[in-house]
Amino acid sequence: MRTADILQAWAKILRGERPTLSIEITRECPLRCPGCYAYDAGHLGGEITLRQLRDLRGQELIGGVLEIVDRYRPLHLSLVGGDPLVRYRELEVLMPALMARRVFVQVVTSAFRPIPDAWANLDHLNVTVSIDGLQPEHDARRAPATYARILKNIAGQHVTIHCTVTGQMMKRPGYLRDFLAFWTPRPEIARVWFSLFTPQIGDVLPEILTAGERKTAVDEMLKLRREFPKLEMPEEMIVQFRKPPSKPADCTFALTTETISADLKTRITPCQFGGNPDCSACGCAASMGLAAIADHRLAGVIPVGAIFRASIKLGQWRSGNTGPKPSPPVAEELHVLQ
Ligand code: SF4
Ligand code: SF4
Repeated sequence: MRTADILQAWAKILRGERPTLSIEITRECPLRCPGCYAYDAGHLGGEITLRQLRDLRGQELIGGVLEIVDRYRPLHLSLVGGDPLVRYRELEVLMPALMARRVFVQVVTSAFRPIPDAWANLDHLNVTVSIDGLQPEHDARRAPATYARILKNIAGQHVTIHCTVTGQMMKRPGYLRDFLAFWTPRPEIARVWFSLFTPQIGDVLPEILTAGERKTAVDEMLKLRREFPKLEMPEEMIVQFRKPPSKPADCTFALTTETISADLKTRITPCQFGGNPDCSACGCAASMGLAAIADHRLAGVIPVGAIFRASIKLGQWRSGNTGPKPSPPVAEELHVLQ
C-alpha cells in the first residue's frame, strides 16, 4: 500500500467511514467446498443462512450495488459470494460503472466460468481465483471448477491466485513449493497469495493447521517469496501470521471493512467470516496485510495502528457511528501519541 493510500484511508476513518467494502452479491454458488465459511450455519449470526437470504438479480442488483458504493464511497471494493460470476451479466454492466467511480475492485471467484474478455486490462480491477491446493486435492474439493476448467477460463487474463493453506496440505512436505512451481510460470498469473485456514471457535476440522504446521507454513512462505517473486507477500505481512489479532477489536481489517450480504442489507460481523471466528488462529491474508501496515511506524516512531485506532474512535464519535469499538491503544502507543 502506498503512503497516499494510507492517507486517503485515514481521512475516511476520521470521518467515521470505513475505507473498504465487501459485498456478497449472490447467495448462489455451483460449488460445495468443504470448510466454506460463507455457507456455515453461523455466518450471518445463526438466525438465517446465506442460502435462505433473498438475493437480487438484474437491474435490482446493479442499482443496489451502485447505491451502496455511492453511499460508502469505499477506496477498495471486494465482490464475493457465493460466486460473483453466477451474476456475470450484472457484473458486465456493473464493472464499467465501478471503474468510472475510480473504486479499486476485487472479484473473488472459483473461475467456474470464463472471466469476461473486457476485464483483462482494467487498471482498477483484480480478479482473484481461489485454488484449493494441487490438482488432485483441488479437483476433489472444487469440481466443477477443476484445474482444467480454470486454465481455460482465465486464458488471456491477469489474475491473482489465492490459496487457503490447510492442515491436509501441510502434511505433505514441499506442497507450497510445488503449488508455486505450477502456477507462477504461467503468463495469466500476475501474483499468488496464501491465506491459512481460519476456523470458527469450537471447530474440529481436518483443514485446521496445528501450531507446528502453522509455523512451518510461515517459515516456508518467507523462503519461497525469494524464490518465486510472484508470491507477492511482503515479509512484514507474512510474519503477522505468527501473531494474529487476539480479537476483532484488535483487527485493523475488521475495523476498517464493512461487509454486506446478498440481500444488500444484512451486515456480516465481526469480519468477512461472520459467526464467531477464532481470531487466535486467523489466517486471513487481508487481515495480515493490514496488520503489517498497522505495525509500520511513521517516521520510525509512531505506529500506524495506534493512529488508526485513535482515529476510528474519533470518527465514530463525530459521526455517531455505533460500529465495533477498537481496543484502546496499548501504553506504548499512547506514549508515542503524546
Ligand atoms: S466457491 Fe467459494 S463460496 Fe462457493 S462453496 Fe467454494 S468456498 Fe464457498
Ligand atoms: S479477520 Fe481474522 S483476526 Fe480479524 S476479526 Fe476476522 S478472524 Fe478475527
